[in-house]
Amino acid sequence: MGIEKPLEPPKNGLLVPDLIPLAYEVLDAWKVLIKGVAQLLHTIPVYGCSECSEVHVALEGHQIKDCLGPTSRDRHSLHSWVRGSIDDILVPIESYHLYDPFGRRIKHETRFEYDRIPAVVELCIQAGVDIPEYPSRRRMKPIRMIGKKVIDRGGFLEEPKPWRLGNPSSPVDFDTYRANERFPPPLSEDIPRIAQETMDAYDFVRSGVMKLMKKYTVKACGYCSEVHVGPWGHNAKFCGAFKHQWRDGKHGWQDAIVDEVFPPNCVWHVRDPRGPPLRSALKRFYGKAPAVVEVCMQAGAQVPDRYKPMMRLDIIVPESDEAKLVA
Ligand SMILES: [Zn+2]
Ligand SMILES: [Zn+2]
Ligand SMILES: [Zn+2]
Repeated sequence: MGIEKPLEPPKNGLLVPDLIPLAYEVLDAWKVLIKGVAQLLHTIPVYGCSECSEVHVALEGHQIKDCLGPTSRDRHSLHSWVRGSIDDILVPIESYHLYDPFGRRIKHETRFEYDRIPAVVELCIQAGVDIPEYPSRRRMKPIRMIGKKVIDRGGFLEEPKPWRLGNPSSPVDFDTYRANERFPPPLSEDIPRIAQETMDAYDFVRSGVMKLMKKYTVKACGYCSEVHVGPWGHNAKFCGAFKHQWRDGKHGWQDAIVDEVFPPNCVWHVRDPRGPPLRSALKRFYGKAPAVVEVCMQAGAQVPDRYKPMMRLDIIVPESDEAKLVA
């Protein structure tokens, strides 16, 4: 059976007091980020490929031939661009909301008894943020474990019904659902300020999530993009990855990294969003940036120094005549 090991918060089910204010700040920044991106997308055009996950931020799609979608051969590997949305910039990563992360494990049969909310928001809730729609069990007494077995969790409490069931289409301010309707186009003189606030919020969310994840466990599936906030993963079987039938749809849980919870979603950096489309021949001169950073920069924000090398801002791109020689 083993011996009882002493557990520190949050592994013992109690909150880490020092991280509660940070969790609130991360959630606030997350809301600023959604609002800001939604506002900026009324003026900054975004395209997504209908055949693959490529996203491009410019007046028109790029002409770099790297589409791997099912019919890309018919297009000589050019992407098939359609107008994009906020979900192309802030890739939605959702996870189950758990009233008690140390309570019953989600089973395949019980998966519809839980809300799905942005993983960042669930992390903030588990780190101490109280959101009335998504209540959370707050323990006074620590749980006790021997080895991997919980010997005292203070019993199981009845879990509240999922909020979404009773409110099927109500928008909330912490996900991207209908964000473009909720946040109308801003005044043009406000755009540079909104761009800077959004850039700052992006940075804050990313660093805040990293700090929270040093203490609070987040799991990611090694085979698909499913993320689980909480100590033990879940048992719902719908692993989306191809060719894993032998695993009976079970996810393969590992400790997550920040990019799995809050993906940077890198796109080509476009120097002149109104200029000629980016082309394969010049690919080696182009840099990349996280999609939010690219949107905010094009809308007038300052780029934090750490993104400058990957954006290759110091590389001189040949003019179109010289480009023919390069090709
Ligand atoms: Zn494509
Ligand atoms: Zn999976
Ligand atoms: Zn799989």
